[in-house]
Amino acid sequence: MTFAFDPASLSLPKQHFIGGEYVSGEDAMELTSPSTGKLLGAIPCADAALVDRAVQSARNALETSGWAGMQPRARLRALHAWADLIEKEAETLAKLEAICSSRPYAAALVGDVMVTAEQIRFFAEFADKEAGTLVPTSDSHFGFISDHPYGVIGAITPWNFPISMAAWKLGPALSAGNAVVLKPSEMTPYTTLYLAELSVKAGIPAGLVNVVLGDGPTTGNAITGHPGIDKVSFTGSTRAGAAIMENIARCGIKPMTLELGGKSPMVVFADADLDVAADALTTGIIPNAGQFCVAGSRMIVEASVADELAAKLAERFAKITPSATHSAEAGFSPIISEKQLQRIDSIVQSAAEQGAELICGGGRFDHEGAFYRPTLIGGVDETSPAVREEIFGPVATFQTFETEEQAMKLASHPTYGLAAGLFTRDLSRALRLTRDLEAGTVWVNRYGRTRDHILPTGGWKASGLGKDLGREAYLANRRTKSVLIDL
Ligand code: NAD
Repeated sequence: MTFAFDPASLSLPKQHFIGGEYVSGEDAMELTSPSTGKLLGAIPCADAALVDRAVQSARNALETSGWAGMQPRARLRALHAWADLIEKEAETLAKLEAICSSRPYAAALVGDVMVTAEQIRFFAEFADKEAGTLVPTSDSHFGFISDHPYGVIGAITPWNFPISMAAWKLGPALSAGNAVVLKPSEMTPYTTLYLAELSVKAGIPAGLVNVVLGDGPTTGNAITGHPGIDKVSFTGSTRAGAAIMENIARCGIKPMTLELGGKSPMVVFADADLDVAADALTTGIIPNAGQFCVAGSRMIVEASVADELAAKLAERFAKITPSATHSAEAGFSPIISEKQLQRIDSIVQSAAEQGAELICGGGRFDHEGAFYRPTLIGGVDETSPAVREEIFGPVATFQTFETEEQAMKLASHPTYGLAAGLFTRDLSRALRLTRDLEAGTVWVNRYGRTRDHILPTGGWKASGLGKDLGREAYLANRRTKSVLIDL
């Protein structure tokens, strides 16, 4: 099997998907391939009236299908049928993912798409297993806590793992008995549209999954402010998360889950296995060219092993070669847009101008498309934008420490608390520091998720509110009611 395809061979969905059918709109936003810089086509931008139509469609579908009140196992079966179709259509989905995003076709095919099907199945299983709770009361009362779907969930997703982000929102929302109006990123809408189409083919009632295309200020705002949206589930930048909070406060309070940005530390002590650490640190910043929320973009290393580790990293980074997402090599990913590449480069260059040391990288690859060299920046402190700001590229800062106290001080970020990595062979230290690190996820002697979807993900501090994945994500799509009966 060859992991390559001709981008011209694909037919690209480019309309909204509402009530089980494609709904056209005027072309409003152009999409460009990050691998080649070539124009892919254009998509429309849903205004408030179209978002309202999608919300009404979701509400009608809930009422006519009885989705929330049906035998829970019927929901479970429909979600498994959807996952079957996702697996069957994996090649098409992976191509649609690769053509506009930074995800290489091979990685999308064996990873993202298959994991999407797996995660839909994971969430399906909660439908007939989670139950309310009887509570202890006096003999003269009978008390219990029941739980119920919200109704219509408004979901908004980013461009960096488009199909996975859609699955993280749709899987638990549908399993828990809700309908969804989802806006994918305007840069990467194709797989979300195709997922919605497959949901109807799999027997999920039309109108339960609606996809509206558009940008944040127009379409996103119309979703979060719509009175018929019962809960908002957002993944994206902290800046957009703050704008969403503001809009919700203005238009009418409603619950929200926010999965936001990060600037995660990877802390290496001298007693760690340095080869294991070098491999893990590479995995912490290189996949998807560092464009993932939990990227380990701040390396914090005990001074006595800093030179040795920096050399190991520079050696690994130097071997990385770019390749288009539709090519067979499945190599290093492009940056999502030329504009984002320019932003990355300006942070790197200004750090260098202010006296930072470029240990390796710095600058774009001499290659077609938006490819940036894996970059390590030394000689920076916490005042540098390279240390403070989420760069969202293959760029990590490299700081050193002498004591555990200094390491923890450097690891703590004033704004973010999404994830952290810790490398040490000292068990007591590992246990002590996993407790003290201010992050929603801590990995020890590894960096990155496994396929254990039971582990929830989400940030502390300005990295977010609430969780995706795990039992928590299912429960986040239901609301509880306390009932007390006088006997
Ligand atoms: P972004 O915030 O620019 O956009 C995300 C989505 O929000 C897009 O669909 C966009 O159109 C929409 N949007 C933007 N402004 C909006 C507004 N005011 N109201 C409603 N919707 C709005 O983020 P991005 O550049 O697409 O993605 C990268 C960011 O996402 C990074 O900060 C990354 O850390 C974060 N992210 C977080 C997680 C997590 O689980 N915590 C996962 C993936 C990505």
